[in-house]
Amino acid sequence: MKLRAVKGMNDILPEESRRWQRLESCFRRTVKLYGYEELRTPIVEQLELFQKSTGETSEVVQKQMFTLERSREALALRPEGTPSAARVYIGESMQAREPVTRWYYIGPMFRAEQPQRGRYRQFHQAGCELYGDAGPYCDAEMIDMLYGMLVSLGLRGVSVTVNSLGGPEARAAYRDQLRAFFEPKKDALSPHAQERLGDNPLRILDSKDPRDQEACQGAPTLLDVLTGEDRAHWDGLRAALDALGTPYTVDPRLVRGLDYYTRTCFEISASTGEIGSQNALLGGGRYDGMVGSLGGPDVPAIGFAMGLERILLALGDTPVERAPLCFIAPLGQKAALEGLRLARTLRERGVRVELDGRGNSLKSMLRRANTMGARHCLVFGDAELERGVVQLKDLQSHEQSDLPSADAVARVVEACAASGAPVAPADTGGTA
Ligand code: AMP
Repeated sequence: MKLRAVKGMNDILPEESRRWQRLESCFRRTVKLYGYEELRTPIVEQLELFQKSTGETSEVVQKQMFTLERSREALALRPEGTPSAARVYIGESMQAREPVTRWYYIGPMFRAEQPQRGRYRQFHQAGCELYGDAGPYCDAEMIDMLYGMLVSLGLRGVSVTVNSLGGPEARAAYRDQLRAFFEPKKDALSPHAQERLGDNPLRILDSKDPRDQEACQGAPTLLDVLTGEDRAHWDGLRAALDALGTPYTVDPRLVRGLDYYTRTCFEISASTGEIGSQNALLGGGRYDGMVGSLGGPDVPAIGFAMGLERILLALGDTPVERAPLCFIAPLGQKAALEGLRLARTLRERGVRVELDGRGNSLKSMLRRANTMGARHCLVFGDAELERGVVQLKDLQSHEQSDLPSADAVARVVEACAASGAPVAPADTGGTA
């Protein structure tokens, strides 16, 4: 039997991981400036959590859950991060501790979708959740933060789409209007949309099926049925985005896949790189009723989740530079022991080091140092050790000199710092 990864779940090899780490540290750096703190939750939750929050009528819960049973308890691999964060928010009585809570998370999510480019069964999301502020300004601040971050990553063709889904009252009225609109043309809808007509007609609006798109022509829009308060919120959001100068377009058909959204919803897409048809980089919105509906206090909230695979696809194949490498090539047993000490000293001073302790010939070690792209190589055998020196080879300029080992260390450290490349191994994420 040939062992293979599970369908739709990908390995991320070191060269790729470097691109991931760069993206993750940019995300962490950005959201921390806005006051978000990291929340880490298990990837397995009770199935019920997602049924109650993500929503029974959502495609995700109906068709895409990875479920498992353990000691008669129905569990699920999380398909998104928002429900877990809400569970913690309620369980920890956060509303009693602070008026506004800002959390971020990064991690794998699981949905049994048909895999294609940009759509996987295990994928990764980075997201934020903000609890305790019902006003539209924090919505605009979040959208502006995301727009700025994506542009600073080097993405081109970034476009922000916003809509208001109204509160429960407007939504109920809109659902009725939509049902009345689609009912006479029910037979022209796709079978999937016909099912949605009963439980969640809003979803017909974002169907990709050409039959449904045709049927949607002239459908009433939610913006027409907003209540006075919903409208004030919507106007406030646009005024704040205008004040910030964040470009956006209004799409009254933007509804998004999950059931819990209220008022603001948004999506950001890009038109560059290899992203193709799956060009939604992130989506988010308000879910003012969710915490309450899970048995918590009546606390408003807003959040987003961005797909890391999608952003990397959109960024294209830009390799990430690694820190300069110093190669240590000891000749003989005694030199290998000295090599261990020297390597540790260099690493303590922030230099990336490869020590070849396999007892190979000088020629083969130098070949390896060159193949690995080392900037410097330290060579020494018994004779050098007796004289208290090491040979420092600059593999770029091909200069070499015998130096006391402390001086050689100082030279390498200095050259690495002057190169401008990261001194410690490339962006490790958490410390930004
Ligand atoms: P959602 O949680 O469905 O609102 O999706 C938010 C973002 O996560 C999307 O805009 C995508 O970038 C990403 N995403 C969602 N589902 C997948 C998937 N199956 N594979 C890869 N990325 C995904």
